Amino acid sequence: MSYTVHTLGYPRIGAQRELKKAVEAYWAGQINQTELEQQAQALRARHWQEQQQAGLDFVTVGDFAFYDQVLNLSQLLGVIPARFQDAPAEELDTYFRMARGRAPTGQPAAACEMTKWFDTNYHYIVPEFDPAQSFTLAPQRLLGEVAEAQALGHRVKVTLVGPLTYLWQGKVIAQGKTLAEADRLALLPDLIAAYGKLLQALAEQQVEWVQLDEPILALDLPQAWKQAFETSYHQLQSLPIKKLLAVYFGSLQDNLGLAVGLPVDGLHVDLVRAEQELPAILDRLPSYKVLSAGVVDGRNIWKTDLAARQSLLHTAAERLGERLWIAPSCSLLHVPHDLAQEDQLDAELKNWLAFARQKLDEVTLLAAAVAGQLNAEQRQQWAANQAALASRQASTRIHKAQVQERLAAVDAAMYQRTSPYVLRAKAQKQALNLPLYPTTTIGSFPQTPEIRQARRDFKAGTLSEADYISAMKQEIAYCVQQQEALDIDVLVHGEAERNDMVEYFGEQLAGYAFTRFGWVQSYGSRCVKPPVIYGDVERPQAMTVEWSRYAQSLTARPMKGMLTGPVTCLQWAFVRDDQPREQTCRQIALALRDEVRDLEAAGINVIQIDEPAFREGLPLRQADWPAYLRWAVDSFRLSAAVAQDVTQIHTHMCYSEFNDIIEAIADLDADVITIETSRSNMELLDAFERFDYPNEIGPGVYDIHSPNIPSVEWMVDLMAKAAAKIPAERLWVNPDCGLKTRRWEEVTPALEALVQAAKQLRARV
Ligand code: GLN
Ligand code: ZN
Repeated sequence: MSYTVHTLGYPRIGAQRELKKAVEAYWAGQINQTELEQQAQALRARHWQEQQQAGLDFVTVGDFAFYDQVLNLSQLLGVIPARFQDAPAEELDTYFRMARGRAPTGQPAAACEMTKWFDTNYHYIVPEFDPAQSFTLAPQRLLGEVAEAQALGHRVKVTLVGPLTYLWQGKVIAQGKTLAEADRLALLPDLIAAYGKLLQALAEQQVEWVQLDEPILALDLPQAWKQAFETSYHQLQSLPIKKLLAVYFGSLQDNLGLAVGLPVDGLHVDLVRAEQELPAILDRLPSYKVLSAGVVDGRNIWKTDLAARQSLLHTAAERLGERLWIAPSCSLLHVPHDLAQEDQLDAELKNWLAFARQKLDEVTLLAAAVAGQLNAEQRQQWAANQAALASRQASTRIHKAQVQERLAAVDAAMYQRTSPYVLRAKAQKQALNLPLYPTTTIGSFPQTPEIRQARRDFKAGTLSEADYISAMKQEIAYCVQQQEALDIDVLVHGEAERNDMVEYFGEQLAGYAFTRFGWVQSYGSRCVKPPVIYGDVERPQAMTVEWSRYAQSLTARPMKGMLTGPVTCLQWAFVRDDQPREQTCRQIALALRDEVRDLEAAGINVIQIDEPAFREGLPLRQADWPAYLRWAVDSFRLSAAVAQDVTQIHTHMCYSEFNDIIEAIADLDADVITIETSRSNMELLDAFERFDYPNEIGPGVYDIHSPNIPSVEWMVDLMAKAAAKIPAERLWVNPDCGLKTRRWEEVTPALEALVQAAKQLRARV
């Protein structure tokens, strides 16, 4: 007996981020298209070779993209908005223009919208459909990649985002406005016809299997969409190519019967996130179908417990025989490429991890074990895997009694500020003595080339610690001085000393580790290197206090202390999988709680706890929202509630949808929340108004994503709209988000205007 092994996708960026460098060199005009294509081809060849060497039965083709695989599909299907069609451009330049709004050749045009792919940190380019969209096939690029792989002697499985998921993730836009949901389904018949032609073309090129990714089957789907699955897949049924329907990122639940019954040749399911559904799937899977079991976590970087997975697969193997396939849970796009490169991670920690390349080996090892065919070498690898897991389970680096005891001792009072907001507001008013419409900023000021250079020199060892600190202090002093000159009411120190709002805290907390090459694609050529939370989190010493104390010593105005909140610290890291996420989050919350207390003791009276990732932590299924919101809100409160009444707690979130989570936002009980609103004409405040949101709000009036300088009138006008919804006594005037990506030449006049606007507003009352 042997089981088929495959992967749903593989990282494309290259172990050394070669693709990023090549694409950026092309954008900068340093290499031409031929060179770019050659480098891409070499990368694909290497990645297929890795899959073959690991012993996979197929290489996966179709997961490569210069920018984004959804954008590839849009171009393949002719979904190219009119504004990119006028100037006849090279195919690749049109592609980049859609993604970036500009290209080496061609006129600029508004880039397509980009948004997060399900609950990952990967951003895709949102398909933009015309109400009368037609689909015209341009499959040459994909077919070319298939031919490349075949020429290298590989057996090919093609991966494509499935038609329903593709449609679901897109928007129908007419005259710049998004049309209602039903309009997308109207496009389905044409879209299915196009997929039909595409699958036919793949079949003609001797492709045996196509993997159609339909992760929306792990979401709450409207009835019409469920119905649409039935009709669409029946239409594709007769095409002479085998179809593997791939669902991942969650459980099937009410879509289980639908997913199992669709007329395709195989089903892939995510048994990392939905192990409990395996028995029901086995019971209901028709006997002609393959089941691809996603048992190796494609979303995290820990070694798989092979023995546990083997026993999970035992029954499946008995029932299915060769119809059992074994795979990672989802595409490996979401994990870094190769652990072997990490030459600076200590051996113990490294031994607990597996990146994409290692996960392929886990999959083949599992398949051999389930078949009872481990050879001598594999038996050794198996034993090493089990030993690594045992060492992780027992390690005192991970489990710290004092952290666990402290968490266990947390009581209800620790989540509660001393007095309710109304009383706190009085105390704070007296202590801070702020005018109506107080002004502040979100935290960071421009990260100038000098600041970045100093940090690089310090890391490289060419700048001493003392010199680095004094350089940062100079930056802070400059920033404070500028804010005083601008007459801002509540100042910030500017965050010059921070490389990144999450990394900065992670580097100072115990239980965190950092990789050298653990890059994951975030969008386009942008990669992030999330920290790894491997153990109980603890704060060995104060993290921000000295900087804030210094900044406060330079001014008589209130200086805001700046912290990254527990949910955001969690959300933007690879998190340990040996305890619930919520427990890790509460540990971080306790560490931040100590920081709040220390800041207060150092004379800081206003403390902001940023939670920009609060919303993105929401689970995919609505039914799971309340549980998440409970512990997310609790974690924030655990950090903040140690503050005395007079200490004003701010939070900041930089996105726009609050309607469905407004209750939880209010439950945070932050004295002040600053949000991003400038581009939405204050409509976002409706949710706060409807809810009678009781605390203070700073709706952003300066769009920091644009180099434009907002005018005084424009900001006054926005604030007047805000004041029609929220009482003026509870409004602040501030930018949308931090200023670190802007230049001083932009920031100074914009903030001058912002302060001017606040003064005009005060004069009106
Ligand atoms: N305090 C951070 C800053 O100003 C907040 C960043 C964010 O919201 N993403 O940069
Ligand atoms: Zn922000």
